[in-house]
Amino acid sequence: MAEKKTIAIIGGGASGTLLAINLLESNSEFSTIVLIEKSNEAGRGLAFQDNGHDYLLNVVAGKMSAYSDKPSHFLDWLSENKIPATENTFLPRRIYGQYLSALLNEFKNHSVFVRIKDEALDIAVSENGDFEIKLRLGKSINAQKVVLALGNCPPPQLRGLAPISQQSENYINDPWKANLSAISKDKTVLIIGTGLTAVDIVLGLKQSGHTGKITCLSTHGHLPLVHNLNQEAAQLNIDWKGTLSAIISTAKANLKSGNEIMSSIRPQSQEIWIGFSLEEKKRFLRHLKHLWATDRHRMPKESSDKLNSMIQEGQLTVLGGKIDSINSKNNGFELSYTQYKSSELKTIACDYLINCTGPESNIERVDSVLIHNLLKKDLIKADELKLGIDAYPNGKVKNEFPAAELYAVGPMLRGILWEITAIPEIRDFVSKG
Ligand SMILES: Cc1cc2nc3c(=O)[nH]c(=O)nc-3n(C[C@H](O)[C@H](O)[C@H](O)COP(=O)(O)OP(=O)(O)OC[C@H]3O[C@@H](n4cnc5c(N)ncnc54)[C@H](O)[C@@H]3O)c2cc1C
Repeated sequence: MAEKKTIAIIGGGASGTLLAINLLESNSEFSTIVLIEKSNEAGRGLAFQDNGHDYLLNVVAGKMSAYSDKPSHFLDWLSENKIPATENTFLPRRIYGQYLSALLNEFKNHSVFVRIKDEALDIAVSENGDFEIKLRLGKSINAQKVVLALGNCPPPQLRGLAPISQQSENYINDPWKANLSAISKDKTVLIIGTGLTAVDIVLGLKQSGHTGKITCLSTHGHLPLVHNLNQEAAQLNIDWKGTLSAIISTAKANLKSGNEIMSSIRPQSQEIWIGFSLEEKKRFLRHLKHLWATDRHRMPKESSDKLNSMIQEGQLTVLGGKIDSINSKNNGFELSYTQYKSSELKTIACDYLINCTGPESNIERVDSVLIHNLLKKDLIKADELKLGIDAYPNGKVKNEFPAAELYAVGPMLRGILWEITAIPEIRDFVSKG
């Protein structure tokens, strides 16, 4: 019989949690499964924390099961917990966090499961590939396999914003940690970004009673499209294989019929991405990334209705343009930008500035002791597109230590698989083992 091993998962957000519970559920090859999470509560991570806001899931309840082979598991849990929902309901994200925490808790007394509340600071690897993980509180964990489930990193500082302005109390660089109720209700807020995070922040401000004007600015000024559940149900049966150009022609031909193209491509998107050459991936990022983001990362109709009434009431404005400079002015900020399409130079003043441009994906620039140490030891490196960690499609990290079973899971594999940031893809990935 093969010798049983210890697996250590670093990061107890949704990815680490899904991996741990899938391993525990499947009576895996491991004698010990260690989950290391630095924050107080494993299970929720960044996306599914209970921060007092009713932020909605952007995926319907019917697709959010924690287990690939039990598609109705989340719906069954909701029903057992008397939370009303159908398969097409967009529930508050904190409820999904409650679900993941509850699943993890079911295993708390499991003989092979060890939960550690601490921060992993460094990993040493021996010649035979065994790992020693060093933790902030002084302990070390030995393991034969390590999985990095480190999630999304905070956004980089806004380009054009002077270092002095970055220190301003009225500048929020990390929207996921923002205390929106601390923002004076009648003041003007400028949000940089128009994606799902910007939508969260606008709706979060509204929920906390904000009455001042809110402006969202992004290069193209496109808010996410709205989920069309009828079209999603009628999944298109298109063969998406081929070069980037062939895929674009197929997309254009189908767009004319008004179909939800990105939804139909979703089940094959990882395979297509892996098949692209580096040049095709770069072209995709240059020309199609923003279209992909608005079409693929859609918002629930309920959120869109709220935004539309804020626009009609004159409280919310959405602009397209490229930032030229941001300066501090009268306790607030003045931003100049070149308007999208017209190329006119415009300025806009605000009391508060919130950065919703998305996470920093270049691991060489993130502020994490662990990532910094792993880079220094060449245990990890950035992928060619600098979207995360370089790895094989099964998540095994590429490095000079072939015996070392070091893996990554979740958003850190964006450069390798592209579609690996939402729950359905993460769950299917971890359930493959
Ligand atoms: C705001 C937001 C909303 C989203 N909404 C949806 C949605 O509605 N539906 C959907 O399908 N997907 C959604 N997603 C996408 C997806 O679900 C997330 O990307 C996913 O939750 C990622 O989980 P994660 O565990 O990889 O990362 P994270 O949630 O970021 O968790 C990483 C964890 O690792 C811990 N950690 C990091 N470094 C260390 C260390 N050195 N030692 C110990 N612990 C460490 C952190 O404390 C954190 O808890 C959303 C994402 C975001 C950001």
